Order: sequence, then C-alpha cells, then structure tokens
Amino acid sequence: MNFDDFQKIKQILSKPKKISIVTHRNPDGDAYGSSLALYLYLLKFDHEVTVLSPNDCPEFLKWLPEEDKIVIFENDTKIGTKIIEDSDIIFTLDFNALHRVGVKMLKSLNKVTSIFVMIDHHQEPEDYATFKFVDPKICSTSQMIYQFIENLDHLDYIDKDIATCLYTGILTDTGSFRFPSTNSDTHKIVAQLLEIGANNSEIYNNIHDVNTYDRMQLLSIALQNMEVINKFHTAYITLSQNELNKFNFKKGDTEGFVNYALSIKNVFFAAIFIEDRKQGIVKISFRSVGHFSVNEFSRNHFEGGGHINAAGGKSNLSLKNTVSKFLEILPQYNDQLKQLS
Ligand code: 5GP
Ligand code: MN
Repeated sequence: MNFDDFQKIKQILSKPKKISIVTHRNPDGDAYGSSLALYLYLLKFDHEVTVLSPNDCPEFLKWLPEEDKIVIFENDTKIGTKIIEDSDIIFTLDFNALHRVGVKMLKSLNKVTSIFVMIDHHQEPEDYATFKFVDPKICSTSQMIYQFIENLDHLDYIDKDIATCLYTGILTDTGSFRFPSTNSDTHKIVAQLLEIGANNSEIYNNIHDVNTYDRMQLLSIALQNMEVINKFHTAYITLSQNELNKFNFKKGDTEGFVNYALSIKNVFFAAIFIEDRKQGIVKISFRSVGHFSVNEFSRNHFEGGGHINAAGGKSNLSLKNTVSKFLEILPQYNDQLKQLS
C-alpha cells in the first residue's frame, strides 16, 4: 500500500462506517492482539465496529482488553453472517488466504461486495482485497497495525489498552523478541508501547503463567514421543487424540511444544503432528532455523503455509500415515537440510 492508498483509506474512514474485523481460525496472540487494537482504535471515531473470530481463543488470551466483545462465528453464525453482510468495510487480519477463516465464515465473506482491507505479514498473499497492506518481513500483524495507524497520522490515538493489545501480538509472534523477524523497528515501536502504558511483565505473565498439571503431563508425553532423524537434522513429535483426551486437552495446551524439538542441537527442521478426530484431520506445525522454508514445505505437501521459519498445515490421512508421508518426503530435502549444518 502506498501513500495514496493510506489517504484513500483515511478519506473512507472520515465518515461513520460499519466495519468488521476478521481474523483466522484458531486465533493466536497476534490475531487477537492486532484485531482488538484496530477495533479499539476505530471505536474512537463514530464507526460501528465488530471483531469476528471463526472460533474461540485459548485461555491465555482471555484477559485481553475487550476480548469478551469478540463475536465467535461458529457459536453465533446467524449474528456473524448479518454483521458481515451489513459491513461497508471488512478488515482481514493476520492471514494470507481467505479459507483460513474456515468453511462457514468463508461462505459468508465470498458473498459480500464490501471493501476488503488486508493487513498481514504472511508470504504469498491472496488477491481478494481492495487494499493490501502486506509485508512478510515484519514480525507481526500487530506491528503492522501500529504502522497502519502511524500512516494515518493517528499515533496520538494509541492508548494503554491499544498498546497492551499490540504489545501482546508482537510478544507472541516474535517468541518474546527472539525470532529473526525482530528488528530495531520492533524495539522502537515496543518502546513507544511501554511509554504509553503497556505493562511488559504483566502481559508476559498473563500469557505464560497459565500452565496446568494436565498440560505438563501432556508435554511429558510429547517429549517421550519425540523422534530425531539425525541424517536430516529433523525432529518430530506426535500426539494422538487418545493422548490428548487422557490429559483433558484444551485449546492452546500444545502451544510451543514443537519448539522443544527445534531446540535440539543440530536440528534445523521440526514438526508436531496432532490428531484431531473431531475434524478428521491431523493438524501440523512446522518450524525451522535458517533458510529452510517450512512455508514452501507445507504449501507443497500439507495444504498449508505461513512463514519461512514457522508454518502450519494439515493432513486427511491417519496420524500414522501422515508421519509415514512426512518421512517419505524428507529425503527430497536432504541437500537443503545438509547445507544448514
Ligand atoms: P502454527 O504452527 O503456530 O499454528 O502456525 C505457524 C504459522 O503458520 C502461523 O503464522 C500461522 O498463521 C500459519 N499457519 C498455520 N496453519 C496454517 C494453514 O493451515 N495454512 C496456512 N496458509 N498457514 C498456516
Ligand atoms: Mn501473526
């Protein structure tokens, strides 16, 4: 998006509008942080604004300012559909392909002729939006919302709650400022957010101090199930539905598990395969270090995508057969994985 586009958006937003903010299925800290920040910002004008999420968020995000105002589309499909149909503008945040909102919401979004504004940091964005503010080099959509507000010349409107939401998204999508996507711009922006009132240690604790005994037990199973394939510098974890059930799995419980596999010395590629019998799929998270693109790997073989070093995907095969497929594909990447050592 260039200067003229921001001026056009500013012009459009200069009169009260009906606005929906939509984010992806299985929302994470960046999805909710960026959506709620934009929501709180737009509410400062005379707009009618709603955040819509395809499904609910994990417990560790439930404290976010105004989180309880979010309409969960799978629970309130009728209301959600009406809100989407009535929208003049639909912001789509933190995803690059419309199908990431899930089947139900996709149907609704495909029907409307509203102005779409896409704000995202994933690679290879789809082309559905009227305005596209997209940059895969930026660590988080939340950082992009800060820059979006800055481009509208409205930094003064960022208050403590907005700063808290943006800080949360940046914190979670940078793995607490340690991923390579974190740069000096990120730290400059975060410094501003702290000055405005975001409380860094409180936010960190809200997100991380939510462990349960069950989750720790599930982690121990995940670690026992971990396999390392030295030849391909690869490690993977599996969790079956039975294992999840045994420890009363709740959304968000497996967050970060895949990073244990990636943290092993000389492992450059990690995956976690999580069986979801209700949806009839295996949900997969891929992580890598260096130039090995898990975005491409997932895109090519597991109907997914994401970023170079973090991507997701899925498989309709059984858990066992999904792992077999993964192991059969690996040798194709021998050269790329070897180069990293
Ligand atoms: P996670 O493994 O934490 O679920 O996701 C890692 C990254 O990949 C996130 O940026 C997420 O948005 C993206 N991602 C996760 N699952 C999918 C998927 O099924 N399709 C695509 N295109 N991206 C995904
Ligand atoms: Mn993100």
